[in-house]
Amino acid sequence: MEKKCFGSGAGTGQKLATRLVQSGVRFDQATGAVSVPIYQSATYRHPAPGETTGFDYTRINNPTREALEESFAALEGAKTAFSFASGMAAITAVMMLLEAGDHVILGEEIYGGTYKLMDWILSKYNISTSYVDVGDSAALEAAILPNTRAVLLESPSNPLLRSADIAAVAKLCKSHRVLTVVDNTLMTPYLQRPLELGADLVVYSATKFLGGHNDLLAGLVATNNQRLAGDLAVIQQGAGFVLSPQESWLLLRGMKTLAVRMDRQQENACRLAEWLNGHREVETVYFPGYNEVEVPGQADGPGAMISFSLKDAALAKEVVNRLQVITFAESLGGVESLITYPYLQTHADMPPETRQRLGIHERLLRLSVGIEDISDLQADLEQALTRK
Ligand SMILES: *Cc1c(COP(=O)(O)O)cnc(C)c1O
Repeated sequence: MEKKCFGSGAGTGQKLATRLVQSGVRFDQATGAVSVPIYQSATYRHPAPGETTGFDYTRINNPTREALEESFAALEGAKTAFSFASGMAAITAVMMLLEAGDHVILGEEIYGGTYKLMDWILSKYNISTSYVDVGDSAALEAAILPNTRAVLLESPSNPLLRSADIAAVAKLCKSHRVLTVVDNTLMTPYLQRPLELGADLVVYSATKFLGGHNDLLAGLVATNNQRLAGDLAVIQQGAGFVLSPQESWLLLRGMKTLAVRMDRQQENACRLAEWLNGHREVETVYFPGYNEVEVPGQADGPGAMISFSLKDAALAKEVVNRLQVITFAESLGGVESLITYPYLQTHADMPPETRQRLGIHERLLRLSVGIEDISDLQADLEQALTRK
């Protein structure tokens, strides 16, 4: 099986790997600090009545946060980016663009937290939802109602890593005056740039690959639409769930190594997917590109997430107990390899019939592949998959 395992980070001008490292380097004009200073100040002295330094109060703006947001907008090829206290805060901010009475269509395989936000919280504000297979354009079009304002999708989906054609979804949405929002957490701009494919908004849990070290929570939103950017600025400042100066710095620092981390994680993932595919205890390997709905040219690589189902349900729990290098924990995208049991963890809140229909059952495990030596990861999985 031919697999493309390296993201080029293709774009105009400097390559993305270069721009990632350069993030913030020229930001601090006052001292030339190469690492952006952490401006740990809630407020700013005004020189005189009617005059400011450009900074008033940190909920409104903060130099460290501004360095992050400007750097990230450039990486994403967006006019504007906003940072938030978590990925869920970023998705909440996007949903605050809606009004009572609006309807949102979501991919049926959506992050569990997004499902809760929509159906447990925003439903109280009279925002309604439908869940569809966003890879099926006829089903998507049929789900569009007169009051549909937005479609939110993840591609690849989680945990089954199925790809939807983002450009096709965006085109369909545009013809119905519906916003396309892509949660690009699993790919990052290094591998996939939804705004270039026609999406109106791209959102991230920067907690995952962008931060990359399992040490922070953060969310990002980027857009080229100036009207949406204006509304998001009001929401970010008014609702106040901004990213702190410390976390802004930590995220900027983490992002610098995104290209090397992603290359290594993806290479490890490609090799593990291939190896798991031939393993006697493994029934199916889910890996972008192994699945039917792959979209040619959409992403520069498959990413570093693998899901796999075992032939025997009893073995799934034993595997997570026996692993010694790979940690049994929720979350993904960091340098440390993590294994998740979606049925009991990340997707426990999904309606049982949806889980059943999609194949998120007791035999499914999800692996977020880190940067460890591939031989140790493989040996760890081999011993864990061996019946004692
Ligand atoms: C983790 C995650 C989120 C939520 O992000 P937090 O930073 O945990 O709030 C949203 N979408 C996807 C795809 C995620 O993996």
